[in-house]
Amino acid sequence: MDIETRVLRLAAEAMGEYGPQGKALAPPIWQSSTFEFEKPEQVAAAAVAHEPDRFYTRYGNPNFSAVARAVAELEGGEAALVTGSGMGAIMLAFLGTLKSGDHVVAQKTHYVGTMKALQQWLPRAGIEVSLVEQTDLDAFASALRPNTRLIHLESPSNPTLMLTDLGGVAALARGKGITTSIDNTFATPINQRPIAHGIDIVIHSATKYLGGHNDVTAGVVVADSERIAGLWKALIVFGMILHPFEAWLLARGIQTLTLRVARHNASAQTVAEFLESHPGVSRVHYPGLASHPQHDLARQQMDGFGGMVAFELEGGYDTARDFAAKLELARRAVSLGGTHTLIVHAASMIHAHVSREERGAAGISDNLLRISVGLESADDIIADLSQALSAISH
Ligand SMILES: *Cc1c(COP(=O)(O)O)cnc(C)c1O
Repeated sequence: MDIETRVLRLAAEAMGEYGPQGKALAPPIWQSSTFEFEKPEQVAAAAVAHEPDRFYTRYGNPNFSAVARAVAELEGGEAALVTGSGMGAIMLAFLGTLKSGDHVVAQKTHYVGTMKALQQWLPRAGIEVSLVEQTDLDAFASALRPNTRLIHLESPSNPTLMLTDLGGVAALARGKGITTSIDNTFATPINQRPIAHGIDIVIHSATKYLGGHNDVTAGVVVADSERIAGLWKALIVFGMILHPFEAWLLARGIQTLTLRVARHNASAQTVAEFLESHPGVSRVHYPGLASHPQHDLARQQMDGFGGMVAFELEGGYDTARDFAAKLELARRAVSLGGTHTLIVHAASMIHAHVSREERGAAGISDNLLRISVGLESADDIIADLSQALSAISH
């Protein structure tokens, strides 16, 4: 069976028993914090079982297992764990892999929460962190130390859609006892499967494309079975678990992932080309454009270029802020990967409380806008962008 078919079946696995009354086609929601057993020895066996999905919901739940199997399948990994948020998944990978005295190499550009983890929280736990330019493979090599235990990546990265050479970094870590992890949220497993490039751990904010409908906050970690077994032991202690209804929503979202991502990819390409051709736009950042400085790498390691487009307008902070304010179809909201087109003017909406210098260091210019191209018709999205561009040029 093709991947689309396998994932559909795994995500919607009913997990109920066949009986004379038939079996639910949509999976039931196992909204129970605990599970009862007939005999005490059965409880005792479940208590020491590995990843039991019917014992106590912090340990596991049939709704978690279904989503985990589907995402592992999508990523070409052996196993997965679901968490209560993307940050939960990132911290699970970090804290379940690292200990005091270890060293981490990561990028200068990461999702804002990841940046805080790397700069504030890991150092507090006695873990050293070096941040390197993600586009420079040699910089990763030079940053390695005898105590380097993890290289953490994000590609394409938020918000400027720069790429990291996944195979190149995996080769640097191989044979040195260094684990590699990647935040694959922007790409989705439809567009990029890092495990095939040699990366060990793949992380998602499932809040974004995997869920896809802006109605659930969740995270996923995918890796080989042994690593996932270790991370599960950390998960049940740290407690960053998902919940049955959220897992159910995620399983529902994943059933249409392939279709949605194909549409996001096609519309984003059209939107990026429109923006690049518009005189009011000075620069467009999209891996699917020939003008992207890493377009060749994108073609090499990605099967599609995703639904996220960043661009800069002619003019400054005020022009970009006014443009965002004039949009009528696109909604002014953080997050991404859902059905609706969302716009963010990073400088005034996300990084409003950090200095211009700090924004600059993170690659965020005053006139940078980020659009999560939704599932509306591309013509309507472009008409909206076009009217807002006209409105600010008067
Ligand atoms: C949103 C996001 C996160 C954080 O995920 P939450 O589900 O909000 O915790 C991490 N990485 C990237 C790239 C994101 O876009």
